[in-house]
Amino acid sequence: MSDMNKKQPFKQVWDNNLFIFKICFSASPLYIIAFIFDILRNQFLIFLEHTYGIGYVLESVEFGRPFYKVAVFIAILFTLIALGMVYGAFVNQLISKKALPKMKQKFKFMLYEKAQELDLECYDNPEYYNEFVLAVSEADNQVERLLEFLNKIFTGLTVFVTTGTYFLVKDWFSITFVLVSFILSFVLMQIFNKINFKLRLQKNPEERKRAYVNRVFYLNDYAKELRLNPDVSDKLFDKFKEANKSIYNIDKANAKKKFGISFLRDYVANDFISDVLYITYLVYKATVLHAISYSSVVILFNSFSRLKQSLRTITEIYPYASETSLYIDKIRNFLNYEPKIVSRKKLDVPKAPKPFKLDNVSFAYKEGEKRVINNINMTINPYEKIALVGYNGAGKTTLIKLLMRLYDVQDGTISLDGINIKDYDVARYHDHVGTVFQDYMIYAATVKENVLMDNADGVQEKPVMTALEQSGFAQRLQSFKHGLNTPLTAEFEEDGVNLSGGESQKIAISRAFYKDSSLIILDEPSSALDPIAEYQLNQSMLEAAANKSVVFISHRLSTTRLADKIFMLENGRIIEAGSHDELLQLNGKYAEMWRVQAGQYIQV
Ligand code: ADP
Repeated sequence: MSDMNKKQPFKQVWDNNLFIFKICFSASPLYIIAFIFDILRNQFLIFLEHTYGIGYVLESVEFGRPFYKVAVFIAILFTLIALGMVYGAFVNQLISKKALPKMKQKFKFMLYEKAQELDLECYDNPEYYNEFVLAVSEADNQVERLLEFLNKIFTGLTVFVTTGTYFLVKDWFSITFVLVSFILSFVLMQIFNKINFKLRLQKNPEERKRAYVNRVFYLNDYAKELRLNPDVSDKLFDKFKEANKSIYNIDKANAKKKFGISFLRDYVANDFISDVLYITYLVYKATVLHAISYSSVVILFNSFSRLKQSLRTITEIYPYASETSLYIDKIRNFLNYEPKIVSRKKLDVPKAPKPFKLDNVSFAYKEGEKRVINNINMTINPYEKIALVGYNGAGKTTLIKLLMRLYDVQDGTISLDGINIKDYDVARYHDHVGTVFQDYMIYAATVKENVLMDNADGVQEKPVMTALEQSGFAQRLQSFKHGLNTPLTAEFEEDGVNLSGGESQKIAISRAFYKDSSLIILDEPSSALDPIAEYQLNQSMLEAAANKSVVFISHRLSTTRLADKIFMLENGRIIEAGSHDELLQLNGKYAEMWRVQAGQYIQV
C-alpha cells in the first residue's frame, strides 16, 4: 500500500481524527467523558502517590511533621486510590462493555447504509471494491485507535503538567536535564531507526530467499515434485545457507555503528545524564548550596524518568494520529461516494401495469469499453409475458439490470408509461419491479420474513401464503412444524431448515409475487429444477401473474414457448423477435436452438 506512506497536511490529520471522534462521541458521549476522566484520574493519583505523596512523607520525616498528620495524609491518599479503582473498574468493566460495541455499531451501520447506496458499478471496479472492503474491515480498529489516541494525549499531558509543575516548583533548573536527556535520546532513536530501516531494505531480498525455501517445503503444490526429485532440496538448502550468510554479513558490517549509537542513546543520553550528571547536581545543590531538601533529591531523581516518558508519549501523538488518518481517509472516501443512480424528479410510479419502452438502448460496463448492449428497441406491453433467450454472454442479464435501473443506459432511453425511468423515485421504482435473480439469497430468518424481506411483526399471513402458493412452495410448507415461522438455514437455529436449490428458488419467486409489483422479472429462476418441474412451475407462475407484465430469461425453450413474445439476443443485439411459432417458422437461430434442445429431451 504505497499511498500509506504519504505525508498528509496537518489539517487533514486533524479533520480525520475529529471525524472519528465525533462519531464515537455522538454514539456514547457519557463514555467518552468518563473515559477521559478516568485517564486524568489515574495519572493524577499516580502522581499523588508516587511523586507528591512520597515527597510529603519523606519531608515529614526530614522536618519532623507530627505523626498524626502523616497518618491522616496516608489514609486520605489510599482512600482516594481505592475510590479511583472502583471508578476505573466501573468505567472499564461496565460502561465500556456497552459503549464500545455501540460506537462500533454506529460506525458500521453508517458504512452498511452507504454500501446499500453504492451503485453496482462499484462492485465491478476492483480498486474501489478493495477500498470498500478495507473501510468496513478497519472500522472497529479505528474506534480502538481513537481511544488509544485520547489515552496518549491525556496521559502525556497529565504527567507532563503534574510532574512538570512539581519540578518547576522544587527546582526549575532540573527541567534542563530532562529536556537534554529527552532530546538526545529522541534524536539518537531516530538515527537508530533509520539505520534499521536501511538494513531491512538490504536484507529484504535475502529474507525473500529464505521465505521461498520455507514455502517450497510446506506448500502442497510442491510436495509431489520434491518427492520425485530429492536433489532439488540440496540446491534449496544451499540457497537458505547463502541467505543466512548474507544477512549475517550485513549485520556484521553495521554492528559497530549500531553499538555506537545505542551506547550513546542508552548510556550517555539516559544513564549518564540522569544517574551521573543529574544526581551529582542534586547532591551538590542539597549538600553544598543547601538550596533543596534531601527529600527533594530523592523525589526529583525518582520522577525523572516519568517526566521524560511523558515527553516521549507527547511526541508519539502526532505520528499516531497521522497513521489513523490514512485509514480514515479511505473510509471517508467511501462514505463520500455520491451514487450515480439517483432520481431526477422523484416521480411516483404508476401502480397498474403500463408499457415499458426501450429506445435505441446501448450500454458498456465501463465507459469506452465494448458495448454489451447495442442499440436495442423493445416494447413490453401491460400484461405481456416476454422471454429473453440467447447463448451465454449475449447480454440478457445486463438488459434486465438496465430495465431495473441497477445501471443507467449510456445511450437511448428506457421509459415506463412514456416517462424516462430516471425521473421516477429510485426506491419506489425498485419496489415496483419484483425480481428474482439467478444468484438470489436465502437469509437466516423465518420463511415469512424471507418472503417479506422485512420484519414480520404484525404482518398478515394470508398474502404471504398466497405468494407461496403461487410459487408452488405451499405444499412443502405443510411439512414444517412451525409453518411460516420456521427458521430457514441452520446458521442461528439448530432446527433451522436448509432448503434444496429448487425450494430456495420458490421462496425467491414468492418474494416477487408478494411485492405488489406490476412487472416481474425472472432471471432463469427455475434453473435448479428438472425440466418437467420447471415447466409446471412456469405455467402456474405465469397464470398467477396474469395481472402483471413478466420478463423472464430462460435457457429452456420449453418454457419460452409459454411467452407471448420472444426476443433472441446475440452480442447485445436483438437478432430475432416474435412468438414461439413465428420464430420456428422463421427457421433462424431460435429454431436451431429449439431443434438441438428438443433432440436432447427426446434422447432423455
Ligand atoms: P447473459 O445474461 O446473456 O449470459 P450477460 O448480460 O451476463 O449475458 O453478459 C453480457 C456481457 O457482459 C458478457 O460479455 C459479460 O462478460 C459482460 N459482463 C457481465 N457483467 C459484467 C460486469 N459486471 N462487468 C463487466 N462485464 C460484464
